[in-house]
Amino acid sequence: MTSPAASKVVHARAPGKINVFLKVGARLDDGYHDVATAYQAVSLAENVRASAADDFSVHFSGPIDTSDLVTDGSNLAIKAATLLARKTGYRGGVHLEIEKNVPIAGGMGGGSADAAATLLACDTLWGTELSREDLLELATQLGSDVPFAFTGGTAIGTGRGDQLSPALAKGQFQWVLALADFGMSTPEVYSELDRHRERHRQDIFPAQLQPQVDTNVLQALRAGDPHMLAEVLHNDLQAPALHLEPELAEVIELGEEHGALAGMVSGSGPTVAFLAADLDSALELQIVLSAARLRVVRAQGPVHGARIIGD
Ligand code: ATP
Repeated sequence: MTSPAASKVVHARAPGKINVFLKVGARLDDGYHDVATAYQAVSLAENVRASAADDFSVHFSGPIDTSDLVTDGSNLAIKAATLLARKTGYRGGVHLEIEKNVPIAGGMGGGSADAAATLLACDTLWGTELSREDLLELATQLGSDVPFAFTGGTAIGTGRGDQLSPALAKGQFQWVLALADFGMSTPEVYSELDRHRERHRQDIFPAQLQPQVDTNVLQALRAGDPHMLAEVLHNDLQAPALHLEPELAEVIELGEEHGALAGMVSGSGPTVAFLAADLDSALELQIVLSAARLRVVRAQGPVHGARIIGD
């Protein structure tokens, strides 16, 4: 193990994600649900700059309002750094500067991207040089979406979403993301899903214990065809998210009326992800939604997972 030079800064980047398909299994005895999801890593990404320090600290900057975000040991980036230090016996600390671009509690895995980029940045800064497998194992301990933020690209996630297998994907998909000015708690959206399923027990099929990703989704990703993908986008968390925040339905409608191939709530919301046919339609849609006073960003996917950036 080499000791880091005092002035060295290591820059790592990790992507946010869109669940282009998300099926949620029945509620298990421990209160959790198994899922079957198709993840796509997108170009809306987190930048983490790590520098040597005696203790652990984090500071946020960037376009996202981070004023309510905890910066103590419960922050996912600090958790990632302390876990790595514990695992490797590293005795120093780190200061993390995070440029946050992914909305907080937005359903795009921003906290998970912070954790994945932090693992990689600290491993490089501290010279602890864990294998990729060991880093992935730590990622799994930090949260269900952290392994995917680490690996990126396109992948199928099962179990809690953390058991990944890569999926073939061609080309680039163009997304327009409508960001909300509020966050949604993932556990609350899952609880609302359970209530929704209870209320509609008579009308809907009971949820499978081990859900699966629709083969048409894999085919659309393999073909790199946005029209095909638009037909099969699916999110079981959309109905409960819309029940909790009904105005999101209007956002979806607005985008679909103005050229989006399809719109859906991303993950547990409240970000709404619109799939566009190509870059030109994405740009047009971005203009329309911005004119309606929505906060809009564009993103492409798939992109790669956490990696070191040479500044
Ligand atoms: P997912 O799609 O993986 O469910 P999300 O995108 O909805 O996640 P995140 O932004 O990853 O949500 O964070 C969820 C919660 O974790 C937030 O409510 C926040 O309080 C807490 N949190 C802790 N550390 C971070 C961090 N570095 N960035 C964002 N949120 C964090």
